Amino acid sequence: MYEFETYLEKDGFAVKRIPVPSPSPRAEEFLELCKKNLCGAYDTNWGCPPGVGTISEIKESLKSYSEAYLVSKKYEIDTKDMKAIQDATDEITDAVRAAVNTVKDRSIKAFGDGGCKYCGVCTYPDAECRYPSQRIDSISSHGFDMEEILEQVGEKLVFENNAVTLYALILVG
Ligand code: SF4
Repeated sequence: MYEFETYLEKDGFAVKRIPVPSPSPRAEEFLELCKKNLCGAYDTNWGCPPGVGTISEIKESLKSYSEAYLVSKKYEIDTKDMKAIQDATDEITDAVRAAVNTVKDRSIKAFGDGGCKYCGVCTYPDAECRYPSQRIDSISSHGFDMEEILEQVGEKLVFENNAVTLYALILVG
């Protein structure tokens, strides 16, 4: 068991081992959704498309990972309260970033929602990422199908009025 698992579990996050994901056959469809820029992060940072690379480059980079973990937490909040949703997203993002920083002897990579905001103002597209080890890439930018990932652990995407379950992924090389 990795330290990041206990680190996250003590803060109320569920951590489950999953098969290493690969871009779904629907990856291009997910990218089209990213391009609609509903989250405002498209083309603003190295963790979102197009900065994150093409699907074939992503497939190549994923070959260096041998283990994957799904991180989740259910937040009891009004799903129309955008500030509460943003606060919850920030919480899971910060927790996952801190958790992967506990791993020193393996390559490790974290994925979440809403783009990488680590620096406040990203270097994208003028200079390379300042802190690649702190970068959180977008799940959808990698063509990962969350419905398929959840099915593998016997879960489903559920939409509720007074709760939202947020997810992140951790890959270990
Ligand atoms: S770590 Fe900084 S420079 Fe790198 S993608 Fe995130 S915000 Fe941009």
